[in-house]
Amino acid sequence: MKKIGLKILGILITAIILLQYNVVIGATKSELNASSSETDQKIEEAKEELENISAEKSETLQQVEELITQISSYQSEIDDLDTKLSEINTQIESAQDKINEKQENYDEQQELLEKRLVATYEAGETSYLDVLLSSSSLTDLISNYYLISEITESDMELMEKIEKEKQEIETAKQELETNKKELDSTRAQKQQKTTELQNAKTQKDNYVAQLNEDEKNTQAELEQFEQDKRDIQAQLAEIARKETASSGGSNGSNIANNPSSSGYIRPIVGYGITCGWMGYSGHTGVDFSGSGIAGKPILAAKAGTVVTSTALKYSNGNYRSYGEYIVINHHDGTMTLYAHGAPGSRLVSAGQSVSQGQQIMSVGTTGNSTGYHLHFEVRVNGRPVNPAPYLP
Ligand SMILES: [Zn+2]
Repeated sequence: MKKIGLKILGILITAIILLQYNVVIGATKSELNASSSETDQKIEEAKEELENISAEKSETLQQVEELITQISSYQSEIDDLDTKLSEINTQIESAQDKINEKQENYDEQQELLEKRLVATYEAGETSYLDVLLSSSSLTDLISNYYLISEITESDMELMEKIEKEKQEIETAKQELETNKKELDSTRAQKQQKTTELQNAKTQKDNYVAQLNEDEKNTQAELEQFEQDKRDIQAQLAEIARKETASSGGSNGSNIANNPSSSGYIRPIVGYGITCGWMGYSGHTGVDFSGSGIAGKPILAAKAGTVVTSTALKYSNGNYRSYGEYIVINHHDGTMTLYAHGAPGSRLVSAGQSVSQGQQIMSVGTTGNSTGYHLHFEVRVNGRPVNPAPYLP
């Protein structure tokens, strides 16, 4: 009696431990699934952010290009103005040289005239009179008189001429200077505009540098999220492996194949799930595998109509992706997919009705597969979901 009591206690304790174990696994799994979709969301956001940054960057770089074009256009206008200014400066210098020359000429003439007048004056009336008195005749006197006065007059005329020429050159020089002022002012405006454009360009350059920095940081974030995602998937895979082990390992023969509450039966008898669902962007179904699975019958999980029954191959004839595979529509918003079937083992074709449990194909390893297994998917409105809850 005592022994039987201990046995019962032992069974109870085991049951409690197993129950707790399952609860713990359930919580962790749903937590992991939640953080997996949260991480998916973060990855999407980071990718969107990267696209935005990239678009913003290429727009800004284009603006920088435009600014560079404008700056170089202004710069070439300034260069033209500089050439013109340098020509005008040369002309002004040359005009000034001529003015100086005229001035010297004028001063020289004036000096000469003054000297002569002074000499004539200092010589007194006598020498002036001498000229006149030495005239041999009245005609000679008159002619000598005119000679003196004409010398003076021609001197005056020459000086007036020099003065006039000097004035003309000065007027021309003033025009050049006015012109130069205008060019200087235009140049200053263009220089101002160039400085503004260069400032704008500096700002844009800084913005591009900032965007590059943002891009780098967002890229690093994205890589971190992707690493997180891989970690979560690895943890989920580990849990799936433990669950399979605790439900009888790869030998799933102890699992009753009565329809689940969703009306599904397991698509293969005698084998358990060895690789679980890893989220929409991870492993999009469950894998059944185990020793001796090659060639085992694959069953329709529920009655329905075959919508796809085909083999995916490369042009060289090698299988790819799902390999030999079948999709069945169950007309309740769900479809099931069976992949990697044995070559030529498909027993149904598109359009054909199938009943629950009917063999549709045999287990193979065609397509993207490294060993004999059945890849099984459940799709709700075309989107893969975790098949586990649909199965008994
Ligand atoms: Zn798979």
